[in-house]
Amino acid sequence: MLSIRHWRLRRRRRRDNDSAAAAWVPSRWSLWTAPTAVLGYVLAVDVLALVVIGVAFGDVEMAPGDWVRFAVLMVGSAIHIEAGREIERLRLVAAEGSTYVNLKSMWIFAGILILPPLLAIAVITLSYLHSWARLRRTAPHRAAFSAATVVLGSAVAVMCLRTINPGNQLSYAGGAIGLVAVTAAALAYWLINYSLVVGAVLLSNPEANARKALGQLSDQFIVAGALGLGTTSAVLLVYQPWLTVALLITVLGLHRALLVGQFQFAARTDSNTGLANTMFWHEIAAKELERAQNANASLGVLYLDLDHFKTVNDTHGHLAGDQVLKTIAAELKHEIRTDDLVGRLGGEEFAILLPNTNADDTLRTAERIRHRIANLVISVTAPTGTTLVDGLTCSIGAATYPAAGHSLDVLLMAADTATYAAKEAGRNQVVTAPTRTPGQLS
Ligand code: GH3
Ligand code: MG
Ligand code: MG
Repeated sequence: MLSIRHWRLRRRRRRDNDSAAAAWVPSRWSLWTAPTAVLGYVLAVDVLALVVIGVAFGDVEMAPGDWVRFAVLMVGSAIHIEAGREIERLRLVAAEGSTYVNLKSMWIFAGILILPPLLAIAVITLSYLHSWARLRRTAPHRAAFSAATVVLGSAVAVMCLRTINPGNQLSYAGGAIGLVAVTAAALAYWLINYSLVVGAVLLSNPEANARKALGQLSDQFIVAGALGLGTTSAVLLVYQPWLTVALLITVLGLHRALLVGQFQFAARTDSNTGLANTMFWHEIAAKELERAQNANASLGVLYLDLDHFKTVNDTHGHLAGDQVLKTIAAELKHEIRTDDLVGRLGGEEFAILLPNTNADDTLRTAERIRHRIANLVISVTAPTGTTLVDGLTCSIGAATYPAAGHSLDVLLMAADTATYAAKEAGRNQVVTAPTRTPGQLS
């Protein structure tokens, strides 16, 4: 069995390997010591990108306006990178272990739509060099691989534009055909870039499951937004170049708002289970209690502690324990209404807030949850391989406002005490906190 120390070391190693996008190989020179398949894959992508660049050199017909557009895109990209530098640097650090996406693609995609291929590639190269120099210096081969995937995505996007809309110098036209061409190009750009990065993650870390390698769906919305903004800036640059300034201001404003929102979300959730963390749960619980007081409504609080959870860790390892906690978190969320809130208060302790719920319904919900957990069969990765964990039980303490207390502290203490009573009484049961006398309520 793995000791906690070993497990921690293992976890840290896994995290390095899991890193996606520009960050999937841990150290500067380790590419050369990487398994042959990884080395071959990375070099193949890099070489293909160089071939694309070579082909682009054969397509150097440029109009004077192209240089102006190129300059505007480069200035826009530079201002964007500089203005978001502090926050992007933090995001990059936070993204170790998952895919890192950003809005930089908007300038690149605008370049694909309106610039000759060679200048579009120059936008990619210069903006990647700029980010690399100014954000966080990852190993050069990682940055180069990321840029190469973008060059390949761009090449396929240009092919789409030219196939759907042949003969147009700008590879871009108005009307429905223009929309079809741009949408196909955006999809191709995204798909090639994304699949090449996911491929690198899976190849360099066969242990990573495919779902984790795919990253978060919300990140893909950022990419979609970037491609939409790229299209808008391309149109502006062709028809109303001066208005690009307005677009830049909009993008900088939205970028800040978007990232602040993302950080707030991260500060509110527990990273393993995705549930509300203690601070956020308490914040919402206090607000809901105040609302219940003003509306003369009831409110239920459940305190749940898994029974003999240490045994799960001791038998199957901490990694399996974490997987069990994650599954339980998802099951808890399934068992409650959208207005309710589950929080992870500590290791294997959860609190559930049930607004507008009286004592009977609070107890019923607690019983449903207890049954659901008792019937779970969870597949986990143990040191010996994939194993099933079943027979899990939990002890739940239930307390309702106004009967069990008038302040959040008193309610929580009542629910916590009831949980202990459930443990004492033999576990795998729900105990309801007693109704308090007026003097004990707050
Ligand atoms: P009881 O029935 O008395 O609650 O027994 P228990 O083993 O669940 O004991 P207790 O609630 O006191 O201990 C919680 C254990 O849960 C300790 C630790 O091994 C485990 N644990 C706490 N947090 C985590 C975590 O984040 N991941 C994993 N894998 N295990 C955790
Ligand atoms: Mg506990
Ligand atoms: Mg416990």
